[in-house]
Amino acid sequence: MSVSQLARSIKASPTLRLNETAARLREKGEPVIHLGGGEPKSKAPLDAVLNCATQLNTGEVRYAPADGLPALKKAILRYTEENYGRLLAPQNVIVSSGAKQSIMSLLYAILEPKDEVVYPAPYWVSYPEMVKLAGGVPVAVTPEDGSFVPAVPDIADKVGSYTKAIILNSPNNPSGVMYPAEFVAEIVEFCEKKSLWLVMDDLYNRLVFDGQKAPNPFHYAKQAPDQSKLVVVQGVSKMYAMTGFRIGWALGNREVVEAMTNIQSHQTSGPVTVSQWAAIGALSGVQTPIESLRLTLENQRNVMVERLETIPGIHVTKPNGTFYCFPDFSAYMKDSQKLAELLLDRVRVVTVPGKEFGMDGHLRLSYCGTIKEIMDGVERIKWALDPNAPNELFLGDRKLVRDWA
Ligand code: PMP
Repeated sequence: MSVSQLARSIKASPTLRLNETAARLREKGEPVIHLGGGEPKSKAPLDAVLNCATQLNTGEVRYAPADGLPALKKAILRYTEENYGRLLAPQNVIVSSGAKQSIMSLLYAILEPKDEVVYPAPYWVSYPEMVKLAGGVPVAVTPEDGSFVPAVPDIADKVGSYTKAIILNSPNNPSGVMYPAEFVAEIVEFCEKKSLWLVMDDLYNRLVFDGQKAPNPFHYAKQAPDQSKLVVVQGVSKMYAMTGFRIGWALGNREVVEAMTNIQSHQTSGPVTVSQWAAIGALSGVQTPIESLRLTLENQRNVMVERLETIPGIHVTKPNGTFYCFPDFSAYMKDSQKLAELLLDRVRVVTVPGKEFGMDGHLRLSYCGTIKEIMDGVERIKWALDPNAPNELFLGDRKLVRDWA
């Protein structure tokens, strides 16, 4: 079998692969705790379900425009005005099959072969693969100080004549860290000065804790919307817990939105109409589901961090948002792949190796499950790693006895 060189260079999404592993083990009756997930457990908002069901009942499900239903674009424009204070035109919005496709269409629209795209580590697993798919070269920047907050000079150092774009994701998957407003302001200014595209992956910007608010990148943009190379990416997946609907969008200048629309018209003919009805319902309905999800996640974050801090030797950076935590386990094992395999094997806890996010020695742990899953999951990790933990642990009714040093 010979698949293309490009295909061979692309890795499977590790998070989707882990979902499959967890499901397979569960099917076999294994007491798996999945701390590797990337989706909230709450239900889709009632307004989303009702709007979708009402339209679906008509039985008329047709192609929609490649850039999204006009009614959805209108709802997105209203959302953007309310939440970003930015008044845009329908030509500045493209709806995609998930934020993932928005980013992909954008990269296809802006990259020439070998153009470089710079982003800080730890980064979302898909960025390097997406950049490669679009013919570009991914360039990760690891903060010099070992923190999860990048510094402008570190990024500027990696920007050269081949650099076409910078991608920022804050609050960040996997670290949960939110970049400071000054940093976002400086990067927006830097990109305007250097005429670089700036992709703000804002998917988690409503899921922020401790009374903080995510910086608004538009706030720092000096150029007019149709001259600007700032593209903000959003979607319903995380804030409304609507991952399966696959609706995201990008806000950018008309020229790039048109190019992305042309690309999508040949890829998917636009996002699924039924899902767009649901997204209209979510955006136009009561907005309390976002706040209740945020509060739930904040509580779950607190529980996870508190428990993790009882494991000697690991270093935990308290997440400011999202539903991920990215502790440093290198005191136990530097190879995060091996560590994740060991935890799955010994105590049936699914985690995602930090290596996949460009930072070995760490594991990404999600706190989007139940409090019980979080508490039991961390307890199992502690048991597996801490030599001073008791000799026995019960997984359901199965007794595990430590048989390693
Ligand atoms: N960006 C980031 C940082 C994400 O974590 C995800 C989902 N895991 C996406 C984009 C894609 O989201 P969607 O479900 O809208 O495609």
